[in-house]
Amino acid sequence: MRILLTNDDGIHAPGLEVLEAIAREFTDDIWICAPDEEQSGMGHALTLTRPVRLRQHGDRRFSVTGTPTDSVTMGLRKVMDEAPDVILSGVNRGANLADDITYSGTASAAMEGALAGIRSIAMSQVTTRHGEADGDTFDAARNWGKRVLEPLFSAPLPDRTLVNVNFPPLSADAVKGIRVTRQGFHDYSRGTVVEGRDPRGFKYFWFGLDQIEHTLDHGTDLEAIDEGHISVTPLQLDLTHYTSLGTLADRYQG
Ligand code: MN
Repeated sequence: MRILLTNDDGIHAPGLEVLEAIAREFTDDIWICAPDEEQSGMGHALTLTRPVRLRQHGDRRFSVTGTPTDSVTMGLRKVMDEAPDVILSGVNRGANLADDITYSGTASAAMEGALAGIRSIAMSQVTTRHGEADGDTFDAARNWGKRVLEPLFSAPLPDRTLVNVNFPPLSADAVKGIRVTRQGFHDYSRGTVVEGRDPRGFKYFWFGLDQIEHTLDHGTDLEAIDEGHISVTPLQLDLTHYTSLGTLADRYQG
C-alpha cells in the first residue's frame, strides 16, 4: 500500500509525525507533501494568483508554499510518479467537528483526494486547552489510529466521499471506543472577534473560537467526542439538498 500524507498545520507540525507513525504500521511506501507553513482555516482554497514553490526536505518528503489543496495537487501531479492508494490528512491539532468541515484545511485536503478518486481520510485530535499543551496531546490518535484505519482500508469507499475522524481529548486508555457518526452543528454565535490596537495605535481585529457550546444531537460527531468516543464520519462532496429539489423547482413554475 502506498500512502500520501498531508495536513494543514504545516510540514513541521508534531501531528504530521504522529500521522507518519500511524501510517508506518501499514506500509513503508509513504510520501509526504504538506504546506510549508500553517494553513489552518484555509478550507478548500486553491492558490491561483501567485506561483507555488516545491521544496524537498528528504526522501519522499516535500513542502509546498501554498494551501493543503495545493499540497495534494502537487503531491499527485508533480511529486509522486504513481498515484497513492490512500491519502491521510492530519493529525490536526484541534477538532474538525460539525460545521468546522468547510473551514478545515485538514478535511479539505481529504476532499481534494476524494475528487481525484483516491480513498481519503482526515484525522484530527480534539484538544481541551488553548495554546501549547503539556504532555502528549496526540496520545489518543497515536494509539488508536491503526484500529480506526483498518476497517477503512478493508474495502473501497463510495465515489466522491471521504471520512472525517476525530479523537477525543483523552489519554488512549480513557478512550471508550469508536462510533460512526453524522455531522453535527455548532452554535454559530460562538465565534468571537477580538479587537485591539497595534503598536502604532491602529485598530486590528482577530477572529477567535470560544469554547464550543455543543448542540449534542444524538448520533453526531459532537456527541461521540463529548462521551469519550472517537468519531468516524462519512462525508460526501455533493452538497445538494435533495429534498429541496422538488419544492424549489415548484417555486419557478409560473
Ligand atoms: Mn490545523
